[in-house]
Amino acid sequence: MKLSRKETSELIKSMEGRILITTHKNPDGDAIGSSLGWFNFLKSMGKDVELILYDRVPYYFDFLPGAKEVKQARKIEANYNWAILTDVSSLKRTGFEEIPADRTLVIDHHITAEPFTDFSLVEPEISSACELSYEVMLLTDPSRISKEVALPIYTGIVTDTGSFRHSNTSARTHKVAAELIEKGVDPAEVAMNLFERNRLSRFKLLKLVLETLEFAVDGRVACVTITREFLERAGAIPEEAEGFVSYPRSIAGVEVAVAFRELEEGGWKVSLRSKGSVNVAVVAKAFGGGGHPTAAGYEVAGNLKAVKESLVAVLRQAIR
Ligand code: 5GP
Ligand code: MN
Repeated sequence: MKLSRKETSELIKSMEGRILITTHKNPDGDAIGSSLGWFNFLKSMGKDVELILYDRVPYYFDFLPGAKEVKQARKIEANYNWAILTDVSSLKRTGFEEIPADRTLVIDHHITAEPFTDFSLVEPEISSACELSYEVMLLTDPSRISKEVALPIYTGIVTDTGSFRHSNTSARTHKVAAELIEKGVDPAEVAMNLFERNRLSRFKLLKLVLETLEFAVDGRVACVTITREFLERAGAIPEEAEGFVSYPRSIAGVEVAVAFRELEEGGWKVSLRSKGSVNVAVVAKAFGGGGHPTAAGYEVAGNLKAVKESLVAVLRQAIR
């Protein structure tokens, strides 16, 4: 059942019993920010809440209040009265086989969102699940938006908008950011924690990855590849490859940037970024994934050459 923001806030107020919060696997800033924001918000309302993720919290989010209380599990054992899922467009994206809860609510902003919960608030136009969460929190109980809530929410807005540079940034996004700063967020502290704590291994990895840069469709597609062997050689962990797709995207004349990342379990995670002329959500959906018009992705089995060729064929059509 689709809900309005107001109905979502009423539903959240009425939630009783054990509440589970979760988000998507390989969590990014919006996933961590929105799930932690709600965790801290609901806890301050006195609710019985647990935050369980399929993957661990990437280290550059360790400064967020509540990050240490996040549990990691490959299966959710207990049964909950409610589950709140943020920034996630399908059950598959959570990583979990099932969400054991009597009732489920999703708060999301993906254009490719599939109906998979009892209740949903999905707004594809909004910058982030964090911005949407903030709007619902305002309607629920603005007095609960403490710095512990504001900080993760602000962080998710920063990461999902590429520091307010992407086309999903609206006037309202900036106003929300300003309100969060008024609640105690220090933008410089967030930027320092997110962007100024790289380890040397990230640069060793970047060096290897940039060597793989290649072009297709008359220079309008640029790809980089991140293999497991590169991670090993650089002594890097997978989360240190986050954001590498922005290097090929930044090249003049490139309309679609692609990063192929080899998964630990085998197969490839494909990240797509568009400058606007190609809707990469549609492209990703054709391969069983999803996302936004300018940022999308999918996971796929098979060898790299075949994975590349099938993608380039679709991109060639999309660019024409
Ligand atoms: P990223 O490339 O940063 O992992 O993801 C970019 C966007 O595409 C995000 O909004 C993310 O939710 C979406 N996305 C990435 N991978 C997948 C996937 O495997 N399935 C779906 N449905 N969406 C994905
Ligand atoms: Mn998001």
